[in-house]
Amino acid sequence: MVSEYERGAVPEGLVTRRQLRDLNLSPGGNRGPAAILRCKWCSYRPQWSCIHPQRGGLFRVDLAKPKRIPTLAQERALDRAMAARQTCPKCKRRYYVCLPLRSLGCCDPCDKGFEPSPDTYMTSPAPTTHRLAA
Ligand SMILES: [Zn+2]
Repeated sequence: MVSEYERGAVPEGLVTRRQLRDLNLSPGGNRGPAAILRCKWCSYRPQWSCIHPQRGGLFRVDLAKPKRIPTLAQERALDRAMAARQTCPKCKRRYYVCLPLRSLGCCDPCDKGFEPSPDTYMTSPAPTTHRLAA
């Protein structure tokens, strides 16, 4: 039997799903709602089954987990996007700056026909892994 509480009478440590989200938490170890928040209309007529959306599950904050933020995946996706803009399709070199691919379609050295200075492009094939680990 799940306890029901009226709004304003909710014990410490129980929050609604919306409050969980505001706290940047996920239900985590909560196996379903720990209690039910009774809506203000139904609380006057407890014999009715509540059909109001205000009735919601209450979750235990101590079981909730912080929402995982996939920073590494985001960085990888960002890196792929950057690599596409920094890699010259002609010489396959990846530069530290974005290339004028829309206007030139290749890096400036390829366009102008000179050797780029080595400090402008990356030499390692996996250039960002060490930056992510740091
Ligand atoms: Zn090039």
